[in-house]
Amino acid sequence: MTPFVVSLLVLTIASISYVAWVITVQRRLVRHLREVSDVTDAIVKGAVKGHINLPPSAHSDVRRVAESVNNLAEKASKDISEMRRLERVRSEFIGNVSHELRTPIFSVQGYLETLLDGAVDDPAVSRQFLEKAYSNALRLNTLLSDLIDISRIESGELRLSFRYFDMAELMRDVVHILELRAEQRNVSVIVDPQTPDSITVYGDKERLTQVLTNLIDNAIKYNVPGGTVTVGAVPEGKNVRCSITDTGIGIPEEHLSRIFERFYRVDKDRSRTVGGTGLGLAIVKHILEAHQAPVRVTSEAGKGTRVKFELKG
Ligand code: ADP
Repeated sequence: MTPFVVSLLVLTIASISYVAWVITVQRRLVRHLREVSDVTDAIVKGAVKGHINLPPSAHSDVRRVAESVNNLAEKASKDISEMRRLERVRSEFIGNVSHELRTPIFSVQGYLETLLDGAVDDPAVSRQFLEKAYSNALRLNTLLSDLIDISRIESGELRLSFRYFDMAELMRDVVHILELRAEQRNVSVIVDPQTPDSITVYGDKERLTQVLTNLIDNAIKYNVPGGTVTVGAVPEGKNVRCSITDTGIGIPEEHLSRIFERFYRVDKDRSRTVGGTGLGLAIVKHILEAHQAPVRVTSEAGKGTRVKFELKG
């Protein structure tokens, strides 16, 4: 073989090897790209999870594309889970609302039907049934206004209007308004003597009136005959510490973390008999959160409950 032929042979082998290498690299590239596109297609078709695993030998650009797709897939999967969770929460809430509304509506319907069926002619019975229908209508009204409040608060529609006002005066006013209800239950409500005559806080007066009303109302409702409710506000550094303390039935430890959930009640029957909607504390929590004033509860079953929160002074 002449040197020329040898060179030609070497050149040919080198060319063939080069072409073969190029083909292999191309094939691998195509295979990896196909893997990327398969996973992307699956995600587009609704697969919640998808992950591309390329070997380290894959082309760096393809690996970068795969990484972006993986990040996108992970984010999409998180978004979808959150959406499903919210849907679940919403349908659970609607289920609870329907259940809560059904009882008073059926009662009103039942009493009216009985009256129409003839009970209306018996004066003693008719008055009693009308009163029952009326009290269920009142209950519906309370339930609806709590529902409207909570949905306005949760949808962010409710805007707070902050200003300085006298918390001691507000406490005296709310106590005065609820005194009659407390008397009917043989419970006394007082403003803690440690509360200064005047103590300024910064907040939405109307919404904080609702907070105090709901908390004092609970302290009366879940109290015992002869019990006491003490409402107070004292300075705490630059803040004002507000507290509502009762000598009532208390809340067993295992329920404490859940009482601020919508419709959560320790004792369903008791809550219904005292006219509770199960929404009062959820409303309180939302309003106080909007004031950056986390609410704290300490309680002992059979002894009583204390609810505390700190407002800016
Ligand atoms: P409700 O309308 O049922 O009173 P809330 O949201 O105001 O609903 O309270 C949730 C539950 O927490 C009540 O049903 C009750 O079981 C419990 N609870 C709230 N406040 C007190 C309290 N001061 N003492 C004992 N239990 C309480």
